[in-house]
Amino acid sequence: MRNLDVVIVGAGPAGIGMAMELGKIPGLEFGVLESDRIGESFRRWPKQTRLITPSFYSNPFGLADLNTIDSTTSPATFAGAEHLSGDQYADYLELVAENAELPIVCGCKVLEVTPGPDGGFHLITELGELFTEFLIWGCGEYQFPKLNPFPGANLCVHYAQVENWQILESSSYIVIGGYESGLDSAINLIKLGHKVRLLVRKATWDQSDINDPSQVLSPYTRERLREMESNDLLEIIFDANVREVTRQGDNSYRVHAADGRYWDVEQAPILGTGFLNGGGARQIKDLWMWNDEDHIMLSDADESVMTSGLFLIGPQVRHDQRIYCFIYKFRQRFARIASEVAQRLQLDTEWLEGSENGVWGPFGNSDCCEGCEC
Ligand SMILES: Cc1cc2nc3c(=O)[nH]c(=O)nc-3n(C[C@H](O)[C@H](O)[C@H](O)COP(=O)(O)OP(=O)(O)OC[C@H]3O[C@@H](n4cnc5c(N)ncnc54)[C@H](O)[C@@H]3O)c2cc1C
Repeated sequence: MRNLDVVIVGAGPAGIGMAMELGKIPGLEFGVLESDRIGESFRRWPKQTRLITPSFYSNPFGLADLNTIDSTTSPATFAGAEHLSGDQYADYLELVAENAELPIVCGCKVLEVTPGPDGGFHLITELGELFTEFLIWGCGEYQFPKLNPFPGANLCVHYAQVENWQILESSSYIVIGGYESGLDSAINLIKLGHKVRLLVRKATWDQSDINDPSQVLSPYTRERLREMESNDLLEIIFDANVREVTRQGDNSYRVHAADGRYWDVEQAPILGTGFLNGGGARQIKDLWMWNDEDHIMLSDADESVMTSGLFLIGPQVRHDQRIYCFIYKFRQRFARIASEVAQRLQLDTEWLEGSENGVWGPFGNSDCCEGCEC
C-alpha cells in the first residue's frame, strides 16, 4: 500500500488543473487517479457538441483563455478553434498533462473511500489500495446524468447517452428541456434535417434580469437558436412542465404535461434534463454535508464541512450565490486549495502567485470580485 500526501480523483479539467497547481509545491507527493482516460467526459460528448465558452489566446495580456486550466496554455492555440469539440478539448488536456509529466494513473477507478481514525483516507481502487493525507475530489457531472426526473423517464434517451446525432434515423423527435443540453440536442437534430418539437418550461434565452452566466443560455447557443427560429423543422412548446412519459402500443411514446396537454412521438423522447446535483461527488455522498437544496456545503477553502482533509473541485463547487460550474470559474479555486494543503503540511507557499495580497493563483480570486472594487 502506497502513502501519498494528496490524491486527486478524476482527470478532467478540474483534476488536471488542480494537479498543475499542486505540481508547483516543492516536496509534495501527490497523484491523480482516473477511472478511464484523461478528459473521459469530453470524449463521451456527442460528436457534434462544442464547448459553449469561447477560446481565445489572450493570456499575455493577463486574461487567460476562458477554457485553459493553467495560465500558460490556450485551447484556442492548441486546436486552432474557438469552440472546441469534446475530443479536441480532451486532446488539449492530455497534452498539458504529458508536458507537465503529471503523475496520473488511468484505468484506476476509486471504489471506496474510508476516512482514517487519525485523519487521512484509505482508498480502495481497481488497481489496489493506498493511503493519502488529503483527498481532492474532481469527478465531474457529465457521467452522472439525471435519468429519473419524472415517471417514465426510463423510456427516454438522455443527452449524455447520445454518442452521435447522426446515428438517429427517425424523421421527428421530441426533446424535453430548454437549457443547454436540450437546445444542443434540438439544434443538432435540425441541422441533420429532423423535425423537432422542443418542450420547455420557459425561454431561458430571454432572462435579462439574471447576472450569472451559469443561469442563462450562453450567447453561443442563443446565436445558434436564432438561426433555427425561422426553420419549419423547429416547434417550441412553452410552459410544458412534463410530468410523465408512457408507451402507446409498440410504436409510440406519449409525453404528458402537468396542464393536461400531451404529445405523441414514434422515437424515444430525448431528455435534456441535466445532471445530478453533486454529480460524481455522490459516489462518496456520506462524506459531505448536503444543504436543503441538495448542494454540498463547503468551507472557504472548498473543504467538506463534514470530513476534514476532503476537498471538492469542479462544477459542483458553490459558495452562497456563486456557482463555479464553468472552467473559467472553478479554476480560480485550485490555488486556494493548494495553499491550504501546503500550509497544513508545513510546506513552502512562496510559489503561490499573489499570495502576499490574498489573491489566489494565476486566475485571480472570485471571492473578492463579488461586489468589491478590486
Ligand atoms: C455538454 C456539456 C457542455 C459543457 N460545456 C462547457 C463549456 O463550454 N465551458 C465550460 O467551462 N464548462 C462546460 N461544461 C461544464 C462541465 O461540467 C465542465 O466544464 C467540466 O466537464 C467539468 O470538469 P471536471 O473535471 O470537474 O469533470 P469531468 O470532465 O467530468 O472529469 C471527471 C473525471 O472523473 C473521472 N471519475 C469519475 N468517477 C471516478 C472514480 N470513482 N474514480 C476515478 N475517476 C473517476 C471521470 O472518468 C472523469 O474523467 C459543459 C458540460 C456539459 C455536460
